[in-house]
Order: sequence, then structure tokens, then C-alpha cells
Amino acid sequence: MKKPQCRKPVRAVLALLIAVLLSSVMPSASAAGVGEPITVGVPTDRCPIFYMDARRGEIIGIGADLMRAAAEQSGYAVTFRAIEEDTLKEALDSGAYDLVMPFGSAVASASGQPTIVSDNLFQTPFTLVTKGGRNLPPLNELHVGMLHSQRGVSETVGALYPGIEVVLYETMPECVRALRSGRVDALLQNSYIWSYVLQKPSYKDLVVQPAAMFSMDFRVGAPDTPEGRERIGRLNEGIATLSDPLRQAIILDYTTRQLYRRTFSDYLYENGIVLLLSALLLAAVAIHVIIKVRAIRKKNEEKMRRMIDHDPLTDVLSLNGFRKRAAELLSEHPGIPYMLVCSNFTNFKFVNDRLGMKSGDELLCCFAEKVSKALSDVETVGRIEGDRFAILRRIDEDEQMLRDDIELFDPVRNHFIDHGGDTRIQLCAGVYILTPQDYHQIDVDHMLDFARVAERRVHEVRKDGFEFYNQDEWDRGRRNADIVSHLPVAIQSGEIQVWYQPQMNAETGQIIGTEALCRWKHAKLGWLRPADFISTLEDCGLIFEIDRFVWDKVCQDLHRWNQMGMHRTVSVNLSRSDIQEGRNITWHFQDLLRRYELTADQLHVEITESAYTRDPKLLIDATVKLQSLGIEVEMDDFGSGYSSLHMLKSVPVDRIKLDLNFLTADGDTEKGRIIINRIIQMVHELGMHLIVEGVENGAQAQFLQSCGCVEMQGFHFYKPMTAQDLGLLFEGRAD
Ligand code: C2E
Ligand code: MG
Ligand code: MG
Repeated sequence: MKKPQCRKPVRAVLALLIAVLLSSVMPSASAAGVGEPITVGVPTDRCPIFYMDARRGEIIGIGADLMRAAAEQSGYAVTFRAIEEDTLKEALDSGAYDLVMPFGSAVASASGQPTIVSDNLFQTPFTLVTKGGRNLPPLNELHVGMLHSQRGVSETVGALYPGIEVVLYETMPECVRALRSGRVDALLQNSYIWSYVLQKPSYKDLVVQPAAMFSMDFRVGAPDTPEGRERIGRLNEGIATLSDPLRQAIILDYTTRQLYRRTFSDYLYENGIVLLLSALLLAAVAIHVIIKVRAIRKKNEEKMRRMIDHDPLTDVLSLNGFRKRAAELLSEHPGIPYMLVCSNFTNFKFVNDRLGMKSGDELLCCFAEKVSKALSDVETVGRIEGDRFAILRRIDEDEQMLRDDIELFDPVRNHFIDHGGDTRIQLCAGVYILTPQDYHQIDVDHMLDFARVAERRVHEVRKDGFEFYNQDEWDRGRRNADIVSHLPVAIQSGEIQVWYQPQMNAETGQIIGTEALCRWKHAKLGWLRPADFISTLEDCGLIFEIDRFVWDKVCQDLHRWNQMGMHRTVSVNLSRSDIQEGRNITWHFQDLLRRYELTADQLHVEITESAYTRDPKLLIDATVKLQSLGIEVEMDDFGSGYSSLHMLKSVPVDRIKLDLNFLTADGDTEKGRIIINRIIQMVHELGMHLIVEGVENGAQAQFLQSCGCVEMQGFHFYKPMTAQDLGLLFEGRAD
């Protein structure tokens, strides 16, 4: 606990003065404190009148000092004791104290016992405290706040000023809150206590009114008993000896002491702004430090990442970086045809040994620079070990690799010669052409391995040049590139044609429908069959372009034949990739029927069985929607998949299209016939239509007929033909 502060020179003079004044009233110094023991009960919450001095561990104050002086004059040795009872009146009844104080006048104890009081020890003035700047209302309208513990005084106030209303509060902070909020106009308290209370820094706004409202006597009380009377009588003798200067000196001593002990909240109040600014400053510094640390950490991480992902010598990617970037590019651009090139210098060791490490480094940097400059954003290069580089290169043309070998690698081979030397470098490259599978399951290491195999082959056999790991893929890749890049021109220029293959009623020999099959007369590759380009276009997501073209062409032909009085039906093929979420296939067919004024029975849609297996929900949904337009849906190539029978149960198609080739191509023909027979019966029993395609000869047709199959399609009847030929056929047979 903090020691009470005092103004040292004033305190020293006062102490001396009090000592002198005391010695003049006391018989001798040695007599002081010696005498008949007497216990006086006092409240301790009335600093500076009575309070517990923490340092000395005893109750002191103006009242205590004056009482002690008077008691000692009367031959008593006083011990002050803090009263435990709620009120002084209750303390009078307790019997724990010989005397109780302070009282203004004699009052009955709590139990109603009569009491007597001593002569007045000193006058205590009571003053009002108001909030600065507020005017006091007239006295008879005044609301005054007081401490609950002083309700004895409040009775006196009531008697002196009947118009004043006194409101009692438990604590001084409550009193002050009431004053500040205007619930009371002023607070009333002993002036000496105000001298202490108003030392609190946050009460700076409170103002003591200059004039005292009234003064109260300060007396000692005791029950009106013989002992009480005896003690009070003796005490009065001592009180009579106290001089006014002594009283003034003691009062002055306590009221000039800095008794108020600052609390933490006082400290906060006094230094609030400084503390707030410091806290803000601290927070700003902390935030700054955090941001700085994060930035440094990020920079370091970036640096680390760069160190791991980059080759410090050439500044191209490291193996790790190449793996990541290549995988990224492949997943972002599944439609770009890529090759992975792995290169190696045959005589690099010779360069290092003969020309020095510096020349070796120079060569590596030359390679990295040449290649990096030639690459686009969708390509990448990395130094994957020593003198080995990997390049993920886009295939833009047939002879891409040959061109790279000449334009990129040859300058590297001639680097030293071009710089005045005589050493030509040998450079081997292995090339791996990525397959569609590589885009689905991206495994860069796997591809690098393949490219390395080819590179080693060159290294072992020729020591220079390049070789493909998968020549077939290369050829296929070139072909695919030709197909994909040429498609838009092909559609525009009429290279894509729609051919038709009639479908027959084998019993009557009548054409009951036709299947539309596309043909491509490629400007560079010649006649292409669907097998040559359908899957490539499916992989690149371009099949919809061609299918839309075919459907439109078919509908044009149907419209023309309609106008010629020939109401025909055509089955069109629909690829699995045509049916995607967000691509409203039903709308397309509805639009075609409307635009070409066709009836829904003129179009059949063929969807292969395997499509249903891969994405059953989407496909079944599309089937049902097409059927809702009145278009019949057929399951193409039935029997080619693994779950044909299961499909029959769950897919609501109108017609099953059984491909004879799947069941007769290999294996036991007899068993195949049994299976076909059973399938035909089963499909009929399930209430579905059936057509068999791939019927190549009369024997097959007869067999199928014997099994109850009537509808057939195949070379035995007609091969696919142009629209013009079909038109002629229709006209020749038109009824
Ligand atoms: P598919 O829909 O099963 O068409 C039947 C295929 O069998 C056709 O081959 C047809 O020429 C062939 N074919 C007909 N009769 C016989 C026969 O007696 N013996 C043999 N061995 N084959 C016969 P094509 O025209 O080469 O078509 C192959 C596949 O390409 C078609 O099979 C179809 O799945 C697909 N396709 C054809 N045109 C288109 C199209 O415009 N769009 C889509 N998405 N796919 C198409
Ligand atoms: Mg078909
Ligand atoms: Mg088929």
C-alpha cells in the first residue's frame, strides 16, 4: 500500500506545534499513553476524521487524535476499535466498546437505551458540493445526496432545512454518479471529509460551496449507566483542557495531508490519453511488425520456392518446377496437342574437360536462352539434370520437331563455332507425343521416361539428332491435328457430307427408313470414314459441331423430300459428348422440326449403348426428353457393351439396334446364332422394336427372318449412299 503523502515542511512545523501544545496540556511526556485502558468504537470510513493507518496498523485521524489527547488528560489509555455494527446506535448496544463516537448529541441507542454524550471535541462544518457550472436551486427545493452511513446527520438536515430532500447512497461513487446525472443537486458531507474525497482526480469537476450549511458537534457517547456517566464525566475534564490552537493544529495537520491513495482507475483517468496514444502506438508498431514479418516470410518462401523450382544457372525451371508447370499446362489446355522433348549433349563432358566448366555453363545457358525465347505461354522448359533439358512443346505443324531441331538446336550445336571455336556440339533429343490418355492421367515423370528412352536411343546409335518414342502417336497426332484444325473449313467448304444407308423390311422388301452417316472428303487426307475422326473430335469436344451440321443437312433433305411428296424417316447418330449439362439437345431437335416443318416421326435418334453405360442419368434424362417431342430413340450397337442386358431393363428406348458384327465377328458362329435368336425374342417380349444392322448376305437375312426379325440394315441390301443417290432410289420406288 502506498504511504500517505504529506507536504513535508508544513507537516514538520505542524508536528512541532502539536507537540508543544500537547506538552502544555499534559502533565508529562512519560504520563502519555499510560492510564486506565478504555476502548472506543469508531467508524473507519471517514478519512481524515477516522481512518485506518496502514503503516502503523492503527486508527488515526482528527477525531482520534483529539479524543486521545482528551482521554490521556483524563487518565485513560485509549484503544480505538473499528465498529462492526451497521450504525453507531447499534454499537452503543453491543457492549464491545466502552465509548462510541462521534455523536452530535445524545440519542437513544438502537435498542432504545438512553445515552449520554461528552462535551464537544470540535465543530465539524458540513458543506455542499456541486457539479462545476451548475447553479443551485433555492434551498427549499434542493435535492441533496448523502452517504447512508450518515443518516444520523440527515435527520439534523431535515430538522434544520425542512424543504430539503435527502437521498441516501451506499457509497461515495454512487453519490457522485447521482450528482453528475442530475438526480441530486448537491452532495452534503463534512468539510474535512470533502478535503479528502475531492483529492480523487476524477472528481475535479466537483466544486465545494464556500459557505458551510451548518456545523455539528463532535462528541463521545456512552450508554447512560453509572460507568458511562463516570467515563464521560472524566473525559469532559480532559476535553476542557484542549486548547483551540491544538484543535486547529490537529485539523490543519490532517486536512493538509495528501491522504488520498490513487487507485489504478485514477491512474487511468489521469493518464488516459497518454495511455491510449501509447496503446495505439504500440498496436501500430505491432501491426507494422506483423506485416513486415509476414512480408519477409512470404519473400523467403517465394525465394525458397524459386530456389526449388528454378535452376540458378540457366534461370529456367528445375525438374521440380518443370513437373509442376507441365502438369498445370496439361490440365489447363487439354485441347492442345503437345510433345515432350528430352535433350542431352553427347559430348558435354568433353566440353567441361577440354574447354573448361565456364564453357560448359555457357553452353547450358545458350540452350536455355534459345529455347525459352522460342516458347509461348502455353509451353515450358526445364533443366532436369546436368546437361539434360525437358521441353513441353505445342505441336503446331507436321514437321514441328524437324524445324525445332534446325532452328533451336542447331545454333546451340554451333555455339562455339559461332564464337570463334572449332568444336561442334552433338545434341540428342527424344520426343514423346502425348496421347489423349496423358491429359486425363497427368504423369509428367512417366512422359519424361518415355522421352528419355528415345533420347538414349539416339545417344547410343547416332549420337546426334532426334527420335520419337512413339512414332505411331506422332503420325496419329499429325493426323489428328490435321482433322481438328481443318474442321471449320471442312464444314464450310462442303467436305463433310451426309450419306444414307436404307433400312429394310426384309419380308416386304420395302425401305422403312435410313440412317444418316457422315463422310469427310478431306482436302489433304482424302476420304475419311467416321472411325478416322469421330473419336478425335469427341476428345477435343468438337463432335457437336459436326453433328449439328449433319442433323441440319438431314432435315434439309427430309424437307425437300417432303415437298416432293415423299415422307421419309431418317435415324441420326448422337454422340455421348453432345449430351452435356447446359447443352439443351431437346431444344435443338425441336428447333429443327419447327424450322424444316417436319413431323417428329421423321427423325429417329441413335445413341450407342456404351454412352448409356458411362453416364446413365444424363443420357436417360435426354432420352425421355427427346421422346416427349415424339422422336423415337434407338439404342445403337446393342451387344457391344458389357452391360447390355442391364441396359435393356433400365433405359426406356423405343428400338434396339443390334449389330450383327459384334456377335458373329469371332468365336463360335453357332453360339452367336443362338445368342442372336434369344436376344431377338427377348427384345420382342420386352415390347421393344428391333433392327439388326451389319447384315451382309442373304443367309444372315434368312436366319434373322427365321428368328422373327423383320427390320434390317446392311450391305446385303444397300451400302451407304449419297443423298442424291438415295433420292433417285426413292423416286424409283416411290409409291
Ligand atoms: P453406326 O451408327 O453403328 O453405323 C453403322 C456403321 O456400320 C456404318 O459405318 C455403316 O457404314 C456400317 N455398315 C452398314 N452396313 C454394314 C455391313 O453390312 N457390314 C459392315 N461391316 N458395316 C456396315 P460408318 O459409316 O463407318 O460409321 C461408323 C460409326 O461412326 C457409326 O456407327 C456411328 O457410330 C458413327 N457415326 C457415323 N456418322 C456419324 C455422325 O454423323 N455423328 C456421330 N456422332 N457419329 C457418327
Ligand atoms: Mg448408328
Ligand atoms: Mg451401329
